[in-house]
Amino acid sequence: MVDLELDGVTKTYAGAAALRDVSLSISEGEFFTLVGPSGCGKTTTLRLVAGLETPTEGVVRFDGTDVSGVPTEDRDVGVVFQNYALFPHMTVRENVAYGLKFGGPPAGTTVDERVGDLLEMMDIAGMGDRDPDNLSGGQQQRVALARALAPEPDVLLLDEPMSALDARLREQLRRSVKRVQKELGVTTLYVTHDQEEALAVSDRVAVMNGGRVEQVGTPQDVYRRPETEFVATFVGDNNVFEGTVRDASGDRTVVRVADAEFELPPTDADAGETVRFCVRPEHLSIAEATGATASEGATAANRLAVEVETAEFLGDTTRLHCRWAGRTVVVKTGSVPEAARLELGFAPESVTVL
Ligand code: ATP
Repeated sequence: MVDLELDGVTKTYAGAAALRDVSLSISEGEFFTLVGPSGCGKTTTLRLVAGLETPTEGVVRFDGTDVSGVPTEDRDVGVVFQNYALFPHMTVRENVAYGLKFGGPPAGTTVDERVGDLLEMMDIAGMGDRDPDNLSGGQQQRVALARALAPEPDVLLLDEPMSALDARLREQLRRSVKRVQKELGVTTLYVTHDQEEALAVSDRVAVMNGGRVEQVGTPQDVYRRPETEFVATFVGDNNVFEGTVRDASGDRTVVRVADAEFELPPTDADAGETVRFCVRPEHLSIAEATGATASEGATAANRLAVEVETAEFLGDTTRLHCRWAGRTVVVKTGSVPEAARLELGFAPESVTVL
């Protein structure tokens, strides 16, 4: 186990920057995820840590030592990519044992013991003699993970290992990965474009956009306290509003958006200035149609009379797409409203000012 550091790393390909001045610090034993849209630089970052690329500028460190020029085979990393890349002419057991070919099994164990332990850990104990071709995609990825973990790498690097699987298999595998990662305490860098997956598995996440890191934090941090509009809208649904400050004198900032006035927590903005803010769909509550009051702390000012366009029943909640002042407002609610027009409310405390 080691801690990982990227310090001011830039990577350019033929003059085009894939990464721009990325600095990250990942603690020993941490499950750290890079999340962001396609092309934002996640895989490039992982490949730099793996030693499959060298930085154009900046330094990669393992436990404080500069490894920027050190080849992959000397880095003690286990890597799993999206495509299982198992050897088709070898059994599952032989595939996992291959992971021990160069370094041998960890001290105090034999190859057979180590392989058996790994198969058990990854819940594929009965499949040792099968050929990879006879396994499902999820099982093949379990084998790939077992092979990567077999030599007890210092660092585990996972690049979209679940993206080829269907939703249910993905969830099962991610629970296994999380459990095994914690059991072994291996420092893990995980790459995904799926923000829900990132929130579910990680100790901390880095949200990336356009080759830069926008925000690093725990899943709760980036969801509840997004620092940029990109993070606010990429991580979970969000409603972004823009308005003009009417009054910034009291303990609330009053903002006009279209024909409505909203009360926000205090901001740095002065009267007349433009502010942008966001409200999560689950923080908008239906006030009028149900006869209930709006969410706790909501005031009459924070009301939106909306027209429901679509209602998607998701089982535990219903997602409404509503029309308000020429734009769409997304609401998540536990009840399924009948009415086509609703009055929504939100508490000033639930607002994030961008
Ligand atoms: P995805 O989720 O689609 O895999 P990503 O976030 O992992 O995307 P990268 O694969 O790191 O993104 O790519 C970042 C940028 O660098 C992209 O614009 C990509 O086209 C470019 N890039 C990556 N590798 C190379 C390469 N070997 N040569 C040229 N450009 C590259």
